Amino acid sequence: MAVITHPLHSLNIPFKAPNPRFTPQPKLTISATSNKHISGRKLTAAVIGGGPAGSSAAEALASGGVETYLFERSPSGAKPCGGAIPLCMLEEFSIPPDLIDRKVTHMKIISPSNLTVDFGKTLKSHEYISMLRREVLDSYLRSRAESKGVTLVKALVTNLDVPNHPNQPYIINYTVNNRMKYLPVDVVVGADGANSRVAKAIGAGDYACAIAFQERIKLPDDKMEYYENLAEMYVGNDVSPDFYAWVFPKCDHVAVGTGTVCSKQYIKQYQQGVRSRVHPKIAGGKVIKVEAHPIPEHPRPVRVRGRVALVGDAAGYVTKCSGEGIYFAAKSGRMCGEAIVKASEGGHRMIGESDLKREYLKQWDSKMTFESYLYKKLAKGNGWEDFKMVSNTVGSLIRCKLVGKGMETFDPNVLAKLV
Ligand SMILES: Cc1cc2nc3c(=O)[nH]c(=O)nc-3n(C[C@H](O)[C@H](O)[C@H](O)COP(=O)(O)OP(=O)(O)OC[C@H]3O[C@@H](n4cnc5c(N)ncnc54)[C@H](O)[C@@H]3O)c2cc1C
Repeated sequence: MAVITHPLHSLNIPFKAPNPRFTPQPKLTISATSNKHISGRKLTAAVIGGGPAGSSAAEALASGGVETYLFERSPSGAKPCGGAIPLCMLEEFSIPPDLIDRKVTHMKIISPSNLTVDFGKTLKSHEYISMLRREVLDSYLRSRAESKGVTLVKALVTNLDVPNHPNQPYIINYTVNNRMKYLPVDVVVGADGANSRVAKAIGAGDYACAIAFQERIKLPDDKMEYYENLAEMYVGNDVSPDFYAWVFPKCDHVAVGTGTVCSKQYIKQYQQGVRSRVHPKIAGGKVIKVEAHPIPEHPRPVRVRGRVALVGDAAGYVTKCSGEGIYFAAKSGRMCGEAIVKASEGGHRMIGESDLKREYLKQWDSKMTFESYLYKKLAKGNGWEDFKMVSNTVGSLIRCKLVGKGMETFDPNVLAKLV
């Protein structure tokens, strides 16, 4: 089978200012088919997005012998997020306890008439929900990936050039300090969240999204005491017609937010609704951050194409009813990274679409039914339960008068107006 040598200019790719750090080796070769031995170098992977999905994928790739570049546009930023993670994630992903701001043992659900249910009562004495700040978690996971050999590239990826021929590399185009740079790679992992450019580049299709809005509010110490180990969830049409609103405690502030799928234009009104309901408990508080972001409602139509795989929010792995996605992002990222390592035999062989589908997608899809919030026991799907769930979902869509309307994609301009 032919082996193609590709100095970049022979690939019919417009020339861009080369990055001295990532100037491709003139003799970089990609074998003509997958599962062919790579000589003189290791399989090279670019992971786009340094959230939980990207860092976990990159860590698994580098640990398994793949040359890995992790691109993150905003390493000091904070992904808009409630930051609640399940107990099982701490152990499974070796999250150090000192990253946790609060251990929540009381989770109250509060109705419009103030009826309250504390489902924390069902917790055992050692159980809790961890509340952390995403800026803290994400930067820890990225540093850990770096310590395993990942090269962190602090840059915005502007575009992914998809090769016309299966033997050619993918080209990652990115900007650092307004300078365009590029990197050719064998494999790409799209972990760039709900507005994924990687997904667009491979034509992965759209998904419906909820929009979530959140304010971080710094509270006086005496008010903060109330939220010591307590999180609140508010339900009712004043806070959201189809989701819930929350107050999640952090180190010295609370995250107060809400979401909706079917009435995005009223999200600010719903946020006012939560604030009114919570008012006495947050009086005197100071808003330190206002943030909004889409939350995917279901997986994308395509999650693997060629030598590109999507993970986390980019793939659409969020629990629909709760908006929970951190654990699934980290899990899918790690699973995808390990799949590439396995298929490439530790970075020594080229992989192809069928490897990604077999080792990552099939494994993920066959294990995706989760048993509970705290313990993510992965089990095989139950056909009858799935059928009932589909019937219920269709029923509520009809009640919401959503059936028949085209799939709604999230307009970033709406988001820009919100924050
Ligand atoms: C308001 C809100 C509250 C939420 N609360 C919770 C919660 O309490 N618990 C929970 O489990 N889930 C929650 N979620 C969902 C959760 O935030 C996501 O499921 C999770 O962040 C997905 O992780 P990810 O790594 O796939 O993507 P992201 O966390 O979105 O990370 C993507 C990363 O890619 C980077 N990136 C994007 N594009 C580029 C580019 N072109 N170049 C370079 N870098 C790029 C971004 O800067 C970002 O760091 C919430 C979501 C929202 C919006």
